[in-house]
Amino acid sequence: MKIDNYIDGVFIKPSSGEYLDNIDPSTGKIYGQIPKSNYKDVADAIQSAKKAFSLWSKLTSADRSNHLMRVADRIEQRLEELALAESKDNGKPLKVARTVDIPRAVDNFRFFASAILHENSEIHDVGDNGFNYTLRRPVGVVACISPWNLPLYLFTWKIAPALAAGNTVVAKPSEITPATAFLLSTILDEVNFPKGVLNIIHGTGLEVGEPLVSHPDVPIISFTGGTVTGERINKIAASSFKKISLELGGKNPNVIFSDCDFEQMIKTTLKSSFSNQGQICLCGSRIIVEKSIYDRFLISFIAKTKKLRIGPPSDPTTQIGAIVSADHKEKILSYIKLAESEGGKIECGGESVVVDGDNSGGYYISPTIITGLDMNCRTNQEEIFGPVVTVMPFDSEDEALELANNSKYGLASTIWTNDLKKAHRVANNIYTGIVWVNSWLVRDLRTPFGGVKNSGVGREGGFESLQFFTEPKNIYIDLK
Ligand code: NDP
Repeated sequence: MKIDNYIDGVFIKPSSGEYLDNIDPSTGKIYGQIPKSNYKDVADAIQSAKKAFSLWSKLTSADRSNHLMRVADRIEQRLEELALAESKDNGKPLKVARTVDIPRAVDNFRFFASAILHENSEIHDVGDNGFNYTLRRPVGVVACISPWNLPLYLFTWKIAPALAAGNTVVAKPSEITPATAFLLSTILDEVNFPKGVLNIIHGTGLEVGEPLVSHPDVPIISFTGGTVTGERINKIAASSFKKISLELGGKNPNVIFSDCDFEQMIKTTLKSSFSNQGQICLCGSRIIVEKSIYDRFLISFIAKTKKLRIGPPSDPTTQIGAIVSADHKEKILSYIKLAESEGGKIECGGESVVVDGDNSGGYYISPTIITGLDMNCRTNQEEIFGPVVTVMPFDSEDEALELANNSKYGLASTIWTNDLKKAHRVANNIYTGIVWVNSWLVRDLRTPFGGVKNSGVGREGGFESLQFFTEPKNIYIDLK
């Protein structure tokens, strides 16, 4: 698979003429090539988006909505092809790509195509004297940058609202997982999406991402990725007062009280720990369990974790697929070593796994449970972003909160209890942007999504997204 950039409605080779290898993480073999684009390609894409802005921003909401709906329909028609591509590129089980990633990309387009039809302008009436009305206008050319863990899912989660609100976009997927972003450009082509409105550029963070966010003609940036990258982008944006939304890393706590529904909790905790090989920003990685059920929890959790089937993403029985890259696998294994050196006990997993046959060169790690660590150690403070969780006991509600809030991150948390008052109290006092009570990853696209502290700046979702991608303009009419 050799892919190209998509600029001004045309598939274009990178100006450097150079390509990067794309590796299938389930085999460790090169299976494609992606453009090694640079600032020149970025400048061309921005120019094309700038040109398209005057037309796209003046379309009615209904017209923009129709264009987005056509993209959603076509993604749905090509779901199987996109799911296969996503699974191969990322290493995630095919059934996850088929049932989660690609359907969500369809939903992202449909949701914002519909939401934009329901946007209202505000009026602040001052009686006989006059009134204010507030219009919301698109901002201009948006830079959308996304990570590799949920490639098309997160790519479209920013692109769809940016376009619905009337902006044009230059988007960069992760160089590690470019396949479905490229397929999206073929879909734009098929549905005759207006030229230049969405431009997709492939390449590295430094050669493509940085020129994109630094460019003076890009007034607004929507970024999802690591906290270190987010900090760098934040500095670049601050010097020229760009509007910015940052969805960053997490180290999410699961707080488990003894009065929870134990079976439901164990089943869901297994998912919140190891889905997508633990490579979801919302995965719970610090599991905090009330002492009276700690032993029972550990025995059951370890037994169920050991039964998870590790295997090739294409095998329908696989529950744990491949880690996204060799580098990321090494990073995860180094954290497991660190945990041991910090006094942690590896209760299960913790090893590199070799899968038979064609997949023997792939990047697999057994799901790992670690106990015996202090909350202040590096293993508990730094994001690992893999199939690795730590488990710690607590005595009281106050202690549970103290442990849960002992983090520089604040993305999401999970609380398990059947005591309604306790659930509300803990949810109110836990410092994260998202809280799930007796559940995990139940998403409603209307709700604000994002984190506090080092997990980000701003919120995505519903009208929060549409507000971010527009600038309010207040107009006062004097009637005196
Ligand atoms: P990175 O921060 O490494 O990369 C994210 C994106 O930014 C990639 O497209 C990357 O390109 C690009 N990039 C890298 N450097 C720069 C730069 N200097 N300027 C502009 N763009 C740049 O994150 P990962 O891809 O490793 O993703 C994992 C991280 O994402 C985890 O920390 C995870 O928690 C977080 N995440 C957060 C979510 C949230 O909603 N809060 C959701 C999902 C993930 P390239 O890959 O080509 O280098």
